[in-house]
Amino acid sequence: MRYCAEGMPRSVHYCHCRICRHATGGPFAVLVWFEKDDVQWSGQLPSVHRSSDIAQRGFCGTCGAPLFLHYLGGETIALMAGSLDEPERFAPDHHYGVESRLRWSDCGAGLPEEETQERVYMPAGWAPSRLQRDLP
Ligand SMILES: [Zn+2]
Repeated sequence: MRYCAEGMPRSVHYCHCRICRHATGGPFAVLVWFEKDDVQWSGQLPSVHRSSDIAQRGFCGTCGAPLFLHYLGGETIALMAGSLDEPERFAPDHHYGVESRLRWSDCGAGLPEEETQERVYMPAGWAPSRLQRDLP
């Protein structure tokens, strides 16, 4: 699967929200926001998971790599920086979701910080206790 994003991103930032942590399996996501229409997919299309009542996440159905975040009905799409061919070119310039930031997560010191603005319903499957119970 390939994608091509045209132009420059609207925004590049760390996201420390709990849903991004679950979606990436890491302490935060680095999101690179483009207009949805400026991202073209080719080959196999991403698999999509509804990660909350307001957003969906795309990932590769073959290898499981996280690819994007999209707010339902929104005109933008956030590509996961690690999925870019040249992520070095797109440095984050602020932190988002800082109320959920892990204290040991040491990145982007001195950048502006913003708390999560969205209030989302967390599907029961995301609860840590549930996840632990479901592990083999
Ligand atoms: Zn997030």
